[in-house]
Amino acid sequence: MSTVIYPGSFDPITLGHIDIISRASRMFDKVIVAVLKNSTKKPFFSIDERIELIKESLTDIKNIEIDSFDGLLADYVNKKGATTVVRGLRAMSDFEYEFQMALTNKHLNPEVETIFLTSSSEYMYLSSGMVRQVAELGGDITGFVPEIVKNKILEKLFKG
Ligand code: ADP
Repeated sequence: MSTVIYPGSFDPITLGHIDIISRASRMFDKVIVAVLKNSTKKPFFSIDERIELIKESLTDIKNIEIDSFDGLLADYVNKKGATTVVRGLRAMSDFEYEFQMALTNKHLNPEVETIFLTSSSEYMYLSSGMVRQVAELGGDITGFVPEIVKNKILEKLFKG
C-alpha cells in the first residue's frame, strides 16, 4: 500500500492545503496529514483545534488519516512505515526553504523521498498566515478557507 505523509502547521487549514491533499489522495492509497507540534511559531489554534478543523474540512476524502507529531520528520516517516513526503510549492519563495528541508530529511533518512505538487493557480498566494492577518483586520476570508474554518476563526477573534 502506498502512503504519503503531508506535514505542516495547518494553522489553520486553507483551501490551498485541501487542494494538495485531494490531489495527493488520488495518487496514493493513503495520505497522512501530520500536524507539526514543535513549531516555534506562536500558534493561533491549538493542535487539537487544528486537527478538528482538518477533520471537518475533509469529510469528502476517505483515504486520509489525521495525526500530529513532534521531533524529526525523518523519524516520524519511519515510524509510520512510509517513505514519501508531499509538500506544496507556491511561488518561487517556497523553493529555497523546501529544497533545504527535503535535502536535510534525505540526509537524516536516505529512504525518504520528498515530492512536490505545484499549487493550483488560484491558491498560489494563499497561506495560513495571510488568512489570519486578513481576518484580524476585518477582511473577508471567504474563498480562502472552508466555511467551518472561517466561522471558527471569527469566533476566536471576535467572540473570545
Ligand atoms: P509549514 O509551516 O511547514 O510551511 P504550512 O501549514 O504552512 O506548513 O504548509 C504545509 C505545506 O503546504 C507546505 O509544503 C506549504 O508549501 C504547502 N502549502 C501551504 N499553502 C499552500 C497553497 N496555497 N498551495 C499549495 N501548497 C500550499
